[in-house]
Amino acid sequence: MAKTADDVKREPFPGLELTSVEPLDRSTIWPYREGEPGALYYQRYAHPNGLAAERALAELEGGEALLFPSGAGATTGLVLGLLEPGQTIALAEGAYYGTASLFAALEHWGVRFVEFDQSGPPPAEADLLWLEAPSNPFLTMPDFEAAAAHPARVVVDSTAATPVYLRPLERGADFALHSATKFLGGHHDVLLGAVACRSADDAARLREFRGRAGIVAAPDPCWLLSRSLKTLPLRMERHTAGATELAERLRSHPAVQVVRYPGFGGLLSFDVADGEAAHTVEISLERIKNATSLGGVDSVLESRSRWEGDRVPAGLLRLSVGLEDPDELWADLEQALTR
Ligand code: PLP
Repeated sequence: MAKTADDVKREPFPGLELTSVEPLDRSTIWPYREGEPGALYYQRYAHPNGLAAERALAELEGGEALLFPSGAGATTGLVLGLLEPGQTIALAEGAYYGTASLFAALEHWGVRFVEFDQSGPPPAEADLLWLEAPSNPFLTMPDFEAAAAHPARVVVDSTAATPVYLRPLERGADFALHSATKFLGGHHDVLLGAVACRSADDAARLREFRGRAGIVAAPDPCWLLSRSLKTLPLRMERHTAGATELAERLRSHPAVQVVRYPGFGGLLSFDVADGEAAHTVEISLERIKNATSLGGVDSVLESRSRWEGDRVPAGLLRLSVGLEDPDELWADLEQALTR
């Protein structure tokens, strides 16, 4: 017999207690118990959805994970929370240009940075090494052994690899950093950053600085990250299959001069003749979105010289391969390349 609304109210959702979907808790305060704050008392220091997502990410990365409101927020937290004025960061050349421009802004506070070729030994004077694996948009990989042999602590921005393909803490890094806005979130609907710390002391110092500075991720994006991490391995497998296929086809297209793809993940870049040819591809695409960012279920492509100027070749196009049918993506790319 069909249930009435009253029946449902009397025995709401049988089996609810067995659900695996955690509730979203937007509380900013939790009452003290017998006059004393408990583990949760004010959202800026900790909240249930943040703790749940951090636990899930720590299982993937190892170490202790901390979430931030964006990848740039995580970078700011790490630099200001762990470095002293007068110290030097050695940043991988050709890494995400926003990281170099953020470090340039932080020079105002006394933190210097130099760039180096991450496929070789880092400069001796560095106090912190900042690697990117693979780098965005040049897709180079660091020399992990040379970095681990250097006395400075090591950060690996593994946004494009994800823990499915790389666990930096197992390769000698002290910190694995993510723009979780990309593959970890995976749907172009959440702005979030993350740092996994190898040492409990570093994690405690960073957590304290994060709470004081207020660079904290809100419950809603943390809830979305928990949702997304459940499909991360499946999504990455599919991103890799699509990107591998497209990289191969691009390599044999006469309008394409060079293809950069590390063999895993969904991010690749390729060069066409010049800026005008790149612009033509951008405006000719019908299926692939002409948009920034990477790591979502929908494929996106853009000319990077728009943002990075002559740091990159004028004809460089960055493509983040989504979860669509690779044949359909290739048909779109092919028609755009032959315009
Ligand atoms: N690191 C990498 C490799 C990125 O690609 C980005 C953004 O594109 C960031 C960090 C910054 O992350 P967010 O945009 O989440 O602040």
